[in-house]
Amino acid sequence: MAFAAVYPLVSARAVARPFTYEVPEDVGCGAVVSVPFGRSRVRGVVVSTGEPPPPGVEAAPIAGVLDELPPALVELALWVADYYGSTPARALELVAPRARRRRGERRETPAGLAGEPAPAELTPEQSAAVAAIVAAMDGGGARYLLYGATGSGKTEVYLQACAAALERGLGAIVLVPEIALTPQAVGRFQARFGARIALLHSGLTEAERRDERERIASGDARVVVGARSAVFAPVRGLGLICVDEEHDASYKQESDPRYDARTVAAKRASLEGAVAVFGSATPRPESWAALERLELGGRLGGKLPPVRVVDLRREQGYPLSAPLLAELGRIAEHGGKAILLLNRRGLVPAIHCRTCGVTRRCPNCDVALVLHGDGDLRCHHCAHAEPAPELCPECGSAELARLGAGTQRLERELAARLPHLELIRLDADSSDPSTALERFAAADRAVLLGTQMVAKGHHFGGVALAAVVDADAGLAFPDFRAEERTFQLLTQLAGRSGRDAPGRVLIQTFQPDARPVELAARHDVGRFLAGELERREALGYPPFGHLVRIVVSGPEADAPMRALQELKEALGDADLLGPAPILRLRGRRRAQLVAKTDRPGALAARAGRALAAAAPAMRKAGLTVVVDVDPQSL
Ligand SMILES: [Zn+2]
Ligand SMILES: [Zn+2]
Repeated sequence: MAFAAVYPLVSARAVARPFTYEVPEDVGCGAVVSVPFGRSRVRGVVVSTGEPPPPGVEAAPIAGVLDELPPALVELALWVADYYGSTPARALELVAPRARRRRGERRETPAGLAGEPAPAELTPEQSAAVAAIVAAMDGGGARYLLYGATGSGKTEVYLQACAAALERGLGAIVLVPEIALTPQAVGRFQARFGARIALLHSGLTEAERRDERERIASGDARVVVGARSAVFAPVRGLGLICVDEEHDASYKQESDPRYDARTVAAKRASLEGAVAVFGSATPRPESWAALERLELGGRLGGKLPPVRVVDLRREQGYPLSAPLLAELGRIAEHGGKAILLLNRRGLVPAIHCRTCGVTRRCPNCDVALVLHGDGDLRCHHCAHAEPAPELCPECGSAELARLGAGTQRLERELAARLPHLELIRLDADSSDPSTALERFAAADRAVLLGTQMVAKGHHFGGVALAAVVDADAGLAFPDFRAEERTFQLLTQLAGRSGRDAPGRVLIQTFQPDARPVELAARHDVGRFLAGELERREALGYPPFGHLVRIVVSGPEADAPMRALQELKEALGDADLLGPAPILRLRGRRRAQLVAKTDRPGALAARAGRALAAAAPAMRKAGLTVVVDVDPQSL
């Protein structure tokens, strides 16, 4: 018999330490075991072996071995726990997820849409990129930014790099923002690698997920394609991790552990000597500044489409200006497809009384209620819904103005103005994204309209027009990434047009001179990023420093501010912004404190200790706290 240090997978912060158990000789680091703990039996992960228990403590034997993880994943999980201020048990759950139910019938994985065929030969830029990645794979690993305009052939580079990993007996992980929204990319991987790929996505049942994990662990599936949590897939002998559309915000997990799959991918690659490739047409400033670049240049077989900026200060007819209607009319007449982006769901984003000036707000959150097509006013942050009033509930006036437009209103107006176009709406209210995308792929004259979901990395033939209905929507956010997000969205949408035929792009805006609008209209990624980096350097924002965001919420207005004021004093010398009250959410008052630091893990740990000391008082006041390292929204 031997001894092993085991982290029991229980969520309580109080037991965040390993316990010593007696194990058979052949049990090593990475074994997932069943252990007696307190009065129950829990799962645990062996993090090291050999150390006997402290004198006077008797080690209980484990009850059995359930599974085995690659030891590198244990190291990765403990790093995640430390860096993101979580507990080892919660981070280990990411690499050793529970499989509760028995194996069910195996469902077909979502069929990807048929992708573009493999090219006869690579461009010189693609060949150079593949050669650099393969050389690094043989040389102990590296990190690259694969930068190229939409349509410049990034997916083919991932495919060839994965093939090179397989030839060397190594495995590969390909992260995509959302499987359902990227059916073509998935289709190309399926076509190239067949049964050797495993798909991990949110639509899987637990039994299916376990089946896929077993295929990965056994080595039957050597290429894993999936959304952010696939970065923890139990691939042995990892040679490559590709992060497609690396600018996408969905790579950040918004619940504990609040990891960022891009940061984790870089860490995992360095732990395992693998190559990490981050691909985008609109990279993050962080990646632009830090990573060696492999440039693919412009679009294959054509130029990027010209962009026309429509100044809404001079045009009537929002949301459909005359120039936009003219373009759509041409499609209704001659055929073709259009993609319209309006990053706001619902019919009308706000109902405003012209008499007393009051806007209907959510009773639980500090946001305007959105009118939906079914006649209800809905809050987009909590589940609150109420029937839209006929008269102003404040003053009784009938002068209720409907301000602005959401995707449902855009759909109605399009149906009224252009009855012969097939309309396909894609937003969080529409039912099945894959069906919508399939319909659009098959149509010969259609409009795909929706929120930012329409700008994700899908490629459709015959798209003659891409239009942004309201480029200003994102600029108003009080977040230092508002300009970056707007630029990415506009540039990504512009890239959907004219892949196989001359295409046009139209951007409607009240701020035609805003930097993100002007530079996106010129496809000038380099200049946008240079300006963005200069601004961030002056402010000490990422990548020139890390941020740690601490949010306290509670039932009463002053308590969160007071708690953060005390925390601020405890943190003393740190560079801190705030505390400041932020929007009320689900009936809870909130405040935030933001720290700028070079050592986010250490700061999060200090904050964690101070908060733990205050925990009993905070619990009594009904306060909860979230510590977010490298937050992606402020
Ligand atoms: Zn009123
Ligand atoms: Zn609400």
